[in-house]
Amino acid sequence: MNEKQILMIPGPTSIPQRVMNVLGNPAMGHRTDEFSAIIKDVTEKLKKIYRTENDLLLLSASGTGSMEAAVCNFVSPGDKVVVMENGYFSNRWANINRVFGAEVQVIEGAWGVPADPKALADVIAADKDKRVKAVFVTLNETSTGVTHDIPALRNACGDHPAIFVVDAISGMGVVPLETDAWKLDVVVSGSQKAFMLPPGLSFISVSPKAWALHKECKSPSFYFSLSAAKKEYDDKSSTPYTPAANLISGLQESLLMLEEEGLENVQARHRSYRSMIRAAVKALGLTPLADDAYASTAVTAVVKPEGLQVKKIVNTMKDKYNIVIVGGQGKSSEDIFRIGHLGYVTKSDILATVASLEMTLTELGYPCALGKGVAAVQEIMLKG
Ligand SMILES: *Cc1c(COP(=O)(O)O)cnc(C)c1O
Repeated sequence: MNEKQILMIPGPTSIPQRVMNVLGNPAMGHRTDEFSAIIKDVTEKLKKIYRTENDLLLLSASGTGSMEAAVCNFVSPGDKVVVMENGYFSNRWANINRVFGAEVQVIEGAWGVPADPKALADVIAADKDKRVKAVFVTLNETSTGVTHDIPALRNACGDHPAIFVVDAISGMGVVPLETDAWKLDVVVSGSQKAFMLPPGLSFISVSPKAWALHKECKSPSFYFSLSAAKKEYDDKSSTPYTPAANLISGLQESLLMLEEEGLENVQARHRSYRSMIRAAVKALGLTPLADDAYASTAVTAVVKPEGLQVKKIVNTMKDKYNIVIVGGQGKSSEDIFRIGHLGYVTKSDILATVASLEMTLTELGYPCALGKGVAAVQEIMLKG
């Protein structure tokens, strides 16, 4: 029997039935007025979530496609760029930039703490001849459960001419972000996180300052050419190549759901999930990797109890309780497990996850008082 699963990973996230119904609609012609109207509608709604009046373009690719677009459309071979690296995904910025021949200065920080605005300010201040073309940061580091202080990092760059690029793939929608007010030049996000869709779509906003840099850019791009995407959108509310049309229709439905709930309420709901999961974990005597002050509302990384194996925790949760959580990534894969709590997550998902985690840990030999984590969640739920 294919048992019902609860997906508690930081993407792909669960898909609401309403969205599934739309995803299952018959194929549509993607060069029709009808479909152009859908593209226009989702683009306008995404701009509201991005809090921007900049151009916003849809790419049919997973989030990394937009990350690549954010490099190859702006960074030329030999350009100097700065990457704030505090986790697996922020490291991807460095890797993509190297592929395109950039000279990458990585400001490395520990995994599990926020990127240091002072370190960035020092590098920017030292760049007297303004060689740095772009600064790359991450809103929500999914591998560690840390939300970085984007306004502070942006302020560290002051009026330096470098563009400021943000990976908001797992944060957009659930973590507050102000593209225009914070002067963020390029912001990328993806469909399978807070947008409650399958993977395969990503979104990228581009400021006028970034377009100016794009004009001089010497790196090659074709599928990910943002000027090609902009031209088709501006002229015809369309895309240069066949878009993932069913996903875009599904996006229209999921954006409607977010609009109905209200962005403020969506974010408040995620804050309460964060409180619940963290309270539960602490009640069980475990330690979240990130401190309360900068803990993500999308995902919580938990330090593995001494003597247990991450793989066993993850497998027991899935095999016995049909709850999917995940281990760490890269160098922290064996040290932490991660519980995603973003997107289409309900209170009962949180309760089931915590209850199953208690049983899992107990079975694996970690002495944890059954019900203690659940009680911590219930107390918060009753208050809310
Ligand atoms: C999921 C994620 C990505 C990668 O996106 P893909 O859709 O897997 O390409 C990049 N950055 C962050 C912060 C993410 O959470």
